[in-house]
Amino acid sequence: MKIRQHPRMRGILVGDEVYSYPQKLFARVADVFPAAVCVKIGILSIDEPMEITLAPQLWRADDIENLSVCRYCGCRENIRTVSDTGIPFRVCAACSAPSDDSTLPSVA
Ligand SMILES: [Zn+2]
Repeated sequence: MKIRQHPRMRGILVGDEVYSYPQKLFARVADVFPAAVCVKIGILSIDEPMEITLAPQLWRADDIENLSVCRYCGCRENIRTVSDTGIPFRVCAACSAPSDDSTLPSVA
């Protein structure tokens, strides 16, 4: 069964880690839709007793980044975590620059 999806939704699975740019929050995907994901956000109540409740939210595909797959090609194999920018993301071996070739110009 093929459903036309938002391009960014391609490859997002339940349990993936996603980051919402407008909310600046990380969350784990609880459900996927063609153009959005449902995530559960932990909300800390400051009332007594202090407790964390999980609130479901819908995040639009336009607003999120899937952190569980390669940022560039979306694959899930040979991926490593890069956290230089503060927002960790994952890059696969094919998309990451060769680290053992110091003759290449730096692309920082
Ligand atoms: Zn890749």
